[in-house]
Amino acid sequence: MKITNAKVFIGGPGKNYVTLKIETDQGVYGLGDATLNNRETLPAAYLRDYLIPNLIGMDPRNSEDIWQFFYRGAYFRRGPIAMAAFGAIDMALWDIKGKLANMPLYQLFGGKSREGALVYAHATGADLEDLMDSISYYVEQGYKAVRVQCGIPGMPTASYAVPEKKGDVRNYITDYAGIRPKVEVWDSDRYMRFMPGALAEIRDRFGPELKILHDVHHRLTPREAAVFARAVEPADLYWLEDPTPADDQDALRLLRQHSTVPVAIGEVFNSVWDCNRLIEQELIDFIRVAVSYAGGITHVKRIVDLAGLHHVRTGFHGAPSHSPICMAAQAHLNAWAPNFGIQEYLVLGTPECDALFPSAHRMENGLFHVSDAPGLGVDFDEREAARYSYTPGSHPVVRLEDGTMWNY
Ligand SMILES: [Mg+2]
Repeated sequence: MKITNAKVFIGGPGKNYVTLKIETDQGVYGLGDATLNNRETLPAAYLRDYLIPNLIGMDPRNSEDIWQFFYRGAYFRRGPIAMAAFGAIDMALWDIKGKLANMPLYQLFGGKSREGALVYAHATGADLEDLMDSISYYVEQGYKAVRVQCGIPGMPTASYAVPEKKGDVRNYITDYAGIRPKVEVWDSDRYMRFMPGALAEIRDRFGPELKILHDVHHRLTPREAAVFARAVEPADLYWLEDPTPADDQDALRLLRQHSTVPVAIGEVFNSVWDCNRLIEQELIDFIRVAVSYAGGITHVKRIVDLAGLHHVRTGFHGAPSHSPICMAAQAHLNAWAPNFGIQEYLVLGTPECDALFPSAHRMENGLFHVSDAPGLGVDFDEREAARYSYTPGSHPVVRLEDGTMWNY
């Protein structure tokens, strides 16, 4: 069996999804997601210029050897661009394997460990009352877990993920259009004075059952993070996400000495070498990698198994930049993983998105149910894809009030 062709598409309804389609001499094809948010053309170029010319003629069933060929063969290893490109190839090869076996992927991993995987939604508010309304909306929709982000009084601009006006919702595409980033202003002192009390009020309002998550988005120093983690303990958080910049694997040691709040980290990691110490030294409770830019199913499954040895559960990244192909790959891992925790989930199910990526996966009552279709269980309509093209965009950058650059 041989790979005969592979194609890369960029675009989608209000998104720059990077979709890989690998075709074989037996008519079976596989799909992968190489989307790297706001840097989408780079994994696409890596695929087109270097990886696909080598892929043609390989046996798609040897997904492990193909992964090793590209990873070890690159010489300059890792990095989100390369790992996103490898990840898309790996997803597509697993998709082909599942279709050849006529089984959904979770069966090839070891079958289902659960019916329906817990997901969390994003509630945001320009102020606390606005946020309470947003949380109520998701609770009424049946969500059992909600990430809560709130505008900070006195902050001169809206901060991470928070709308500027009451009742608005951040649109991750139109708000961040154009190659020159918007500037957001940040003040850790104001944030640390306001947010613990706000989280406690949310807990009071919604009672003990709702799982409440909060994302610090890498903004605090290790000492501030330790103080903040202790201050939010009365809110009984499901997790505190990215309290410190993720590239320092020792930064959480101080927090661990002062608080038992569950910590989630890792949405920017792209390999096991970014998180092995965090996992082995049990400095985190949830690992947040994404199947797309952490090297695909083959590599992320290794991270999940290492995490399982150390009581660390999964909480895969599910930002709107992941296409339904990556979300399907994660859904199969979520159905199987003995150490599954939760899945970040933003509603993708617009009619345009469903037309481009038809699938039978479904959300019901705050749980994601993976379909029993062979492989990833998601398709890609090339005629629909022809309607879309690449639109440049950029994440905001963050400065302190005196102009100093800070962590987005
Ligand atoms: Mg996050």
